[in-house]
This record gives sequence, C-alpha cells and structure tokens, in this order.
Amino acid sequence: MRVKLVAGNWKMNGDLASNQTLLNAVLSAAASFSAMKCAVCAPFPYLSQVQQLLHGSGIAWGAQDVCQFENGAYTGGVSAPMLKDFGCHYVIVGHSERRAIFGESDEIVAVKFEAALKAGLTPILCVGETLTEREAGITEKIVARQLDAVTSRCGVKALGKAVIAYEPVWAIGTGKTATTEQAQAVHAFIRSRIAADDAAVASMVLIIYGGSVKAANSAQLFGMSDIDGGLIGGASLVADEFSAICRAAQPAA
Ligand code: PEP
Repeated sequence: MRVKLVAGNWKMNGDLASNQTLLNAVLSAAASFSAMKCAVCAPFPYLSQVQQLLHGSGIAWGAQDVCQFENGAYTGGVSAPMLKDFGCHYVIVGHSERRAIFGESDEIVAVKFEAALKAGLTPILCVGETLTEREAGITEKIVARQLDAVTSRCGVKALGKAVIAYEPVWAIGTGKTATTEQAQAVHAFIRSRIAADDAAVASMVLIIYGGSVKAANSAQLFGMSDIDGGLIGGASLVADEFSAICRAAQPAA
C-alpha cells in the first residue's frame, strides 16, 4: 500500500516571520492529517529555521534544488551532504523552472538525482511536458526521455528510493490544472514504463501530481489510482489550503 505524500514547494518565497506563522499554523492542523506523509521544501537560507520548527513533528522538510557536486570550488553551490546536515529528507530535482530558467539538461538532472541518493536524501524527480509538446501529442515521449535519463545513469531500482512528480509545465502556477483523467493517464504511463523494467519498483514508487493543485481539486486528483499525492506550489504558502490538501491525501476511513 502506497502512503500518499503532499510536499509543499515554497519556491523563492517567504521570510523568517512569515515562515514561522505558516509553519505554526500547519503544525496546529497536523493532527488532522497524521496518516499521510507531509513535507515542505524551503529555500536554502530557511532550512535551519524549518528544521528547528518541524523537528520531531512528523512533517518532513527538504530543499528545492541541489548542486551536482559534493564539495569544492563551486561558488554558490549547495551540496547534498549539506542538505543532509540540515535534516532534509527530500530534495526536488529537475523542476521545470530549473530546467527552463536555469538551463538544466536531463543529464544534469540525472547527476543531481544521483548526488541526492548518495547522500541519503529522497529525490523528488519532476517530469512533465510544455503546452506545445502536449499539443504536438508528444507528452509520453518527453516524460519517457526525462525518466530514461535518470534510469540510464542510476538504474531503475534507484527510482524505488525516490518520488516522481508529474508536473505538466502548462499547469504550474497558471491556475490550469490537468483534468483528473489527463493526470491519471500520464501517471499510469509512467508506472507502466517503470514496470516494463521492474514491476516491484513500479508498484511501490510514489508518483505525485503537481500543477495548480488546490484544496478544491485535490481530493478528486488524489482519488485516481496512480496519483499518490501532490507537489504543491502556490497553495503551500497558505496554511489552511495546504492543510486541507494534506487532509485530502488521508486514506479513506
Ligand atoms: C510547483 O511549483 O511545483 C507547482 C506545482 O506550482 P503550483 O502549485 O503553484 O502550480
């Protein structure tokens, strides 16, 4: 049985005061979603604060990116062992904003994925197509290429130690959510592609959905058989919304 995961991606938002208010409110609601996995992925400077506030709470935390190198002369880089030092459980790799704005290739994403695993972190590997790619009918080809870059470097079993986030780029921060059927179809495709190599990994890997998930659409999305939770951007900055999304990921009573 896969336990659902809801992970907040704060992106480049927050400050010490607002983070504290947000996390205190989420912590107050946490008893209402204790049967699912919840995490927040914060900007690097706030990892220490998040660690202090969430330590021992059952809510995990992580980062939004990681340097592909372990240490040394990489000015501005933050390595996977450094994230581990701050108690991170997760790290997002290959978010579409990193791919598009910072030019991260499939190969760089695969190296970051490998670095995260080596440090004992759980990578949240983001894959997803642009609107042009969807309209050209090549969604599966794009998602397969992004997945294959990781499996050819790290092996399919490595996916068993990771989370996959299907995030259609056209649905991120746009208010346009993929329909439950559109999302389910791509999640099922991802699972079947993994199953072709390793059925056990395919059946246990969490495949979460991201792209304008809100409290109002989360229960329907999470009700689909291959959708194991969500990666939440904008709505993770609003405590009531985020908590309600977490509650939607609770197993049915
Ligand atoms: C994201 O940034 O991963 C994301 C899904 O953003 P939003 O929920 O705002 O669309």
